[in-house]
Amino acid sequence: MKILVSGAGIAGLACARELGARGHDVTVVEYGRGLRLSGTPIDIRGDAIEAVDRMGLLTKVRARRVRMSERTWFVDGAGEPVARIPFAEVSDSDDDIELLREDLVRILADALPGTAAIRFDDSIEALTDTGGRVDVRFASGRTGRYDLVIGADGQHSAVRRLVFGAEEDYLRHLGVYFALAEHPAEAGTGGANAIYNVPGRMAGLFRYGGKAVAVFQFRSEAIDHDHRDLDAQKRILLDAFAGHRSWRIPELLDAARVDPGFYFTSASQIRMPTWHRGRVALVGDAGYSPAFLSGRGTSLALTGARFLAEGLQRYDTDHAAAFARYEARQRPYVAFAQGRVDGGRDRMLPMTWEAIAARNAALQEADAGAA
Ligand SMILES: Cc1cc2nc3c(=O)[nH]c(=O)nc-3n(C[C@H](O)[C@H](O)[C@H](O)COP(=O)(O)OP(=O)(O)OC[C@H]3O[C@@H](n4cnc5c(N)ncnc54)[C@H](O)[C@@H]3O)c2cc1C
Repeated sequence: MKILVSGAGIAGLACARELGARGHDVTVVEYGRGLRLSGTPIDIRGDAIEAVDRMGLLTKVRARRVRMSERTWFVDGAGEPVARIPFAEVSDSDDDIELLREDLVRILADALPGTAAIRFDDSIEALTDTGGRVDVRFASGRTGRYDLVIGADGQHSAVRRLVFGAEEDYLRHLGVYFALAEHPAEAGTGGANAIYNVPGRMAGLFRYGGKAVAVFQFRSEAIDHDHRDLDAQKRILLDAFAGHRSWRIPELLDAARVDPGFYFTSASQIRMPTWHRGRVALVGDAGYSPAFLSGRGTSLALTGARFLAEGLQRYDTDHAAAFARYEARQRPYVAFAQGRVDGGRDRMLPMTWEAIAARNAALQEADAGAA
């Protein structure tokens, strides 16, 4: 079949790999000018590891494993370590492979078969499902005709909006924002990763793979903004930390100010009654973002791509049966991941100085007990 995939993130690339390897003619359309490589390390857990194994990529993925979470400390205003992240508790799986998002994107992109190609700097502007095919108009002015369209274009999916309706019908904001900026001055300096809290906010400095990044999280009601407007996103971050000058917060905010690759997102879940309609299906954050707090978004993208491709293999041209099977197999994973966000939020973003001290004391006690 001729299949169009919107988005060259983890879900889109995994779909292209899985569908292309089964002989489909796949085009991925990505609105970035190239692969989007930023991001802190992500986790591949549970059955997503099997999905990677079936793609033949597990050895490559394991070779790029990092252990960033295990080297992360909460610090005080003087930068002194006060408590350690309990890694065994943070992960919900016995087997958990942590690797740079950038490395996973590259591994998947390098593994695309000859039957799959990526077109950058373009996106779907309109699509019409005629029942027998999908007619697509792109922002570039091109047009195309496809048997199926897969929306793998992330939390703010354009395919979802065009086919299933407005984002607000499906998006559930969890009250937290996340931002990330490269901090080149700290690159290659080594040392532990540090997280510093002020009430309702955290700023961190993480180092991995020769890079250093400033990371921020803060609690907030939903803030209306254009998610493609980098300057607006930076302003939201700066406002959230206005007046906070302790630890290295000003320096980390300066890194955010100047980074052209700045990444900003809300902790939001996408909850939909179904992920397919006619000849269109959603995979990954587009259909079922569990929010970064779950640590499961990448794993869902990988199992989703696998189940979708296996469904189409089993039912051949009966895409409706294939999509239904994909959804039935993927639902339990999504329910599990979306149910796992509250503990992470409370540990990372205590609301008061007292709650920060209590969290640190509890972690110290747990650490002493484990020793
Ligand atoms: C640059 C970046 C950095 C990230 N950093 C982190 C992180 O530090 N921690 C974390 O937990 N998660 C991070 N994520 C999200 C994480 O990768 C996903 O939650 C998870 O891997 C599921 O992947 P996905 O492919 O469904 O979504 P995403 O990884 O968000 O990929 C969606 C892709 O679709 C593209 N796209 C969006 N809209 C359109 C459109 N209209 N047309 C064409 N293409 C479109 C995007 O550019 C992106 O390449 C990041 C995502 C991105 C894009």
